Amino acid sequence: MNHLVHIVKSCIDFILPHTCILCNKETESGLICDTCLDALPQVRSPFCHRCGRPLKRRKTCRFCKNGTYLDQGRAWAPFIPPVDALTHFYKYRKMTLLSQLIGRGMANVIVSDFFLKQSDVIVPVPLFWWKRLKRGYNQAKLLADVVGDECGIEVKHMLRRVKNTKTQTQLDEESRKKNVSNAFEVTDGMIKDKTVLLIDDVLTTGATVNECAYVLKNAGAKKVYSCVAAIAPG
Ligand SMILES: [Zn+2]
Ligand SMILES: [Zn+2]
Repeated sequence: MNHLVHIVKSCIDFILPHTCILCNKETESGLICDTCLDALPQVRSPFCHRCGRPLKRRKTCRFCKNGTYLDQGRAWAPFIPPVDALTHFYKYRKMTLLSQLIGRGMANVIVSDFFLKQSDVIVPVPLFWWKRLKRGYNQAKLLADVVGDECGIEVKHMLRRVKNTKTQTQLDEESRKKNVSNAFEVTDGMIKDKTVLLIDDVLTTGATVNECAYVLKNAGAKKVYSCVAAIAPG
């Protein structure tokens, strides 16, 4: 019996660790202690008015300057320490509980944005089926579900990834564009004149959301916005 209690307790400890995943100090508030939570960097203006990337002064960032199908984007946090570690945990260590914390943060960003909060439908950036199977979940879908609940906007899986694209971490801007070119297709015909809010975990050059915005607009979407968990500063 004691053995069983121990196993159950270990399982609970695994699901809700009592140490902060960032500083390893004991915490009662779940995954991240209040000190680390308060210290997380935020995206502050000025930022690129297309993708939402924080910049030194308000303008269009160097990636969006060459043309983008995205009408407007926002992000929860800049992709700098310790947010990069957080999204790494999230992606590769199955810390799906983090989706609650990050998703709520993204929802706060959305409801305080005049444009994004008016979106008709939320669409997560899909993974190729094989990658989803290997990982067990799509991190963008988990975030989209939380954001949809919090903002009261319907989540629809209107996109399918039809190409098993390479991991983009090591690719430059041009290679990223080529990598995601023709990688997506629209699966739902009910998109005409809709305002779509794309959800993804990390935005670096913006090649992925731009390609998604392109296919959505080709299929009749009126506007395409994006909200990501973390964005690379300009
Ligand atoms: Zn901490
Ligand atoms: Zn931009």
